[in-house]
Amino acid sequence: MAKETTNPFEIVQGQIRHACEALGVPPAAFEVLRAPRRFLEVRIPVRMDDGTVRLFTGYRAQHNDALGPTKGGIRFHPAVTPDEVKALSMWMTLKCSLLGLPLGGGKGGVVCNPKEMSERELEELSRGYIRAIAPIVGPEKDVPAPDVYTNPRIMAWMMDEYSKIQGHNVFGLITGKPVAVGGSLGRSEATGRGCVVTVSRAAERVGLDLTGATVAVQGFGNAGSVAARLIGQRGARVVAVSDSKGGIFKADGLDVEAVVRHKAETGTVLGFPGAREITNDELLTLDVDILIPAALENQLTAENAPRIRARIIAEAANGPTTPEADEILYRNGVLVVPDVLANAGGVTVSYFEWVQNRYNFYWTEEEVNQRLEAMMTRAFDAVYVMHEERGVSMREAADMVAVRRVVDAMEARGWLH
Ligand code: NAD
Repeated sequence: MAKETTNPFEIVQGQIRHACEALGVPPAAFEVLRAPRRFLEVRIPVRMDDGTVRLFTGYRAQHNDALGPTKGGIRFHPAVTPDEVKALSMWMTLKCSLLGLPLGGGKGGVVCNPKEMSERELEELSRGYIRAIAPIVGPEKDVPAPDVYTNPRIMAWMMDEYSKIQGHNVFGLITGKPVAVGGSLGRSEATGRGCVVTVSRAAERVGLDLTGATVAVQGFGNAGSVAARLIGQRGARVVAVSDSKGGIFKADGLDVEAVVRHKAETGTVLGFPGAREITNDELLTLDVDILIPAALENQLTAENAPRIRARIIAEAANGPTTPEADEILYRNGVLVVPDVLANAGGVTVSYFEWVQNRYNFYWTEEEVNQRLEAMMTRAFDAVYVMHEERGVSMREAADMVAVRRVVDAMEARGWLH
């Protein structure tokens, strides 16, 4: 069998090529979109607690700014690679476009293992990274945010460092900040909340009653734990969740709030009283109605896709499904709500945060949630219409809606002729 495509850069490039072909846009459009317009590599010295100086490698990719300043998170992870950062910036272009945001796609990453670093080392790294990329970011240029293993505290350090460079507060530099320094109410829950909006819309379309529907969530971090909690509030039964150490299963449903507390106390979902331990592979292939991958890339593969029994998959994570797995799932009639749609709640409320920073006028949590729900619903419906009209998968439909808008902007700006 041919080797499975797991390089995210190749995957997103293939998706964009496919969308360009299906839409019949000018060939120059794909040439522009096939890779980021700008890619910066930096080296950041950090004085470690033992007195030695260590150099960390970081990246920032800016894919396309036809629709507005680029926007995208910063990932701190040992497995960060240039291709991964580039790919994630390209998905951000699609995501912002799909949601109708006046923003383009960017992404950043630092090769490091935050779990092995002290608070002080992490602060020095965060400040060093933003100093290194300062010339190419800013509220009008490129607006970072949190991603895997970065959080509001790190965003606050970065905003503070950048503000010192500029000589005045620049809250609009970065989103996902603590509310005390210009963060938006509702931001921390936005990705999970947006994901659940798309799941309930998808459930309506396939005739699945959310009340009593069973759910498995892979990855119990920011995106996954919030999605699990909120889908539970809509009447579904979360029977399994997992983290990097393994998973837990309880047939009559987990008390998600209690699992959140257990993980906060012990560092893992494992050992949760009354639940059976399962592997991550078992979790993915459970007999559930809804599966939410909310961890990392390439979790659903040609190997496990034929065994997946969920009717709806909502990709809270970025790139959890390989193209080969995608084809199998489509053939098997599984409705996959693709990442660029299912996890776009995060960037949508990040956009709200940026708007509030620029106006210096802040919204209530209720206003944020209402606007989020309206925008997620509108995006889901646009994708679903394309999916039905063109007889393509939800992923292809989402890519087509997104690429269309970016290409329209590029055409209007005279970039393609
Ligand atoms: P996070 O660091 O809060 O959580 C990640 C979770 O995944 C942790 O619980 C970790 O233990 C678990 N995990 C890691 N490897 C695993 C494995 N092999 N099997 C099972 N679990 C594993 O990160 P997050 O912010 O929740 O991001 C998760 C995914 O969602 C990423 O793909 C990210 O790009 C995507 N995402 C997040 C946001 C956001 O706003 N947080 C927005 C859009 C997309």
